[in-house]
Amino acid sequence: MPDGRADADAETAIRRDLAAAYRLIALFGMDDGIYTHISARLPDAGDGGHRFLLNPFGLRFDEVTAANLVTVDQDGTVVDDPYGAGVNAAGFTIHSAVHMARPDALCVLHTHTVAGVAVSSVEEGLLPLNQWSAQFHDRVAFHDYEGIALDLSERERLIADLGDRQVMILRNHGMLTCGRSVAEATKLALNLERSCKAQVAALSMGLTPRRLAPALAAHTAGQYAAFYDATEASGDDPEWRAHLRLLDARCPDYKS
Ligand SMILES: [Zn+2]
Repeated sequence: MPDGRADADAETAIRRDLAAAYRLIALFGMDDGIYTHISARLPDAGDGGHRFLLNPFGLRFDEVTAANLVTVDQDGTVVDDPYGAGVNAAGFTIHSAVHMARPDALCVLHTHTVAGVAVSSVEEGLLPLNQWSAQFHDRVAFHDYEGIALDLSERERLIADLGDRQVMILRNHGMLTCGRSVAEATKLALNLERSCKAQVAALSMGLTPRRLAPALAAHTAGQYAAFYDATEASGDDPEWRAHLRLLDARCPDYKS
């Protein structure tokens, strides 16, 4: 039997973290109106069913709170909707596919940012030009654009392309990260965004880009991965706590 109280505590924490992720993405200018989503898996309710949290359709990311997140099943069917606006079920199909194919993906975060879309629009993708981007060296999956993702059969191709990676460039479209926690998916997205902005800036100077040697970039990526692993294993994340304090100072209603 699942521990009901522990599950309730876990859901409270996931709701707070997911609302925080929406607010951080908005605060850092990485949102796209009411589009794109961040989803999180809830603990099994004891009936073997899958439940996920998603933003209410039509709300800006800066309007999302822990309490107004919508609970849906793996098909995007609404299970609980305190706000009453439903969800963008079509937008959830990619998220659902990733959650179902990757048990380690507690959170799936998708963005359309100018820098991310720019990097997704060039053949080379993300280059190992600096410490930020080195963490993603040889760890990024690619998925070719097929139009707005309404075709359910695309899910199979997307999952095959993602494989066991945590970061995917959706070519000509945007970025996707998945994490073992909401914090991890969000930190990856923020670092990815900085990497894309730095690449756009570096390649706009008309000077010669200086790529890191592959072995050095791989070494750095391994260092980052070990750090992420240690953070997830410890259950304590000082960087995430710092982000939550930022939200407490700027928009404390996120957790209400
Ligand atoms: Zn998209």
